Amino acid sequence: MAILINGKEVAASVREKVRLEALDLKEKTGIVPGLAVILVGDDPASKIYVGNKKKACLEAGLNSFEHILPAETSQQELLELISRLNEDPAVHGILCQLPLPKHIDERAVIEAISPRKDVDAFHPVNVGKIMIGNFDFLPCTPAGVMELIHSAGVSVSGKKCTVVGRSNIVGKPMSMLLLHENGTVTVCHSKTKDLAAECREADILVAAVGKAKLITADMVKEGAVVIDVGMNRDANGKLCGDVDFENVAPKASYITPVPGGVGPMTIAMLMRNTLTAAKLTAKL
Ligand code: NDP
Repeated sequence: MAILINGKEVAASVREKVRLEALDLKEKTGIVPGLAVILVGDDPASKIYVGNKKKACLEAGLNSFEHILPAETSQQELLELISRLNEDPAVHGILCQLPLPKHIDERAVIEAISPRKDVDAFHPVNVGKIMIGNFDFLPCTPAGVMELIHSAGVSVSGKKCTVVGRSNIVGKPMSMLLLHENGTVTVCHSKTKDLAAECREADILVAAVGKAKLITADMVKEGAVVIDVGMNRDANGKLCGDVDFENVAPKASYITPVPGGVGPMTIAMLMRNTLTAAKLTAKL
């Protein structure tokens, strides 16, 4: 039976470390890391995420600046707000909650955020830096996955890693981080011919698709490390991942649950990125 990787515990320890480092930064420089979160519209899930980010900031001793804008906000108005936040010395990190209403060009918004304040690491400059391996920030979810892998004492070097999903937010940067740690990486997607065979090769399998129980026990190698990024609802409306946890866990060496696995890590890494951005300002 697999050992459970407890994302709640790992995330709590990352957040506590951020809190202590933020305190130290304040004592030495007077700087309090500040995160500005922009929400356009009233998507209920996004509202919850934004609320959670504010709570996490306050717990870690960071300043939180919320900008809740109506759904009719024009792209120009949003870009003007971002421009002001780029210039605001109290704001070290800027995050615009996605998805945005359809009349706003997501790319233009991401590219308007100063790369030095881009704590989501979605700006092309930061994406390029990640590719080169010389980065200030890592995207929160893939960075959180790496933290979980490290917390289990698993070394990536020389391992066969399969990432299922190739989004810009999760799959692609995930594969790059595994590559930086010397994994031999395969990236699968909706056009992959034999997904089961690709997954069975993996010593480390990361599922980031958004399809409940896509990864079944017959697709997993005995002793594999299985990381489930997926967040779905099953037929009963219960939160579940992309992995058929019940049947995969007996075969895996380590596995992350949903909920309580990757999810809590994303906000913890956002706090860490905000601290990093503040340290960049202080040139530490
Ligand atoms: P996207 O929808 O952007 O990407 C999904 C990827 O899965 C695509 O690359 C797609 O392939 C691939 N895919 C779809 N169907 C299949 C299939 N049958 N076989 C193989 N690959 C397939 O999703 P995200 O990357 O944004 O998110 C993925 C999941 O992770 C979601 O459940 C999301 O909710 C969750 N998530 C969780 C976070 C957390 O904090 N825990 C944070 C972010 C996301 P193609 O490119 O060919 O279309």
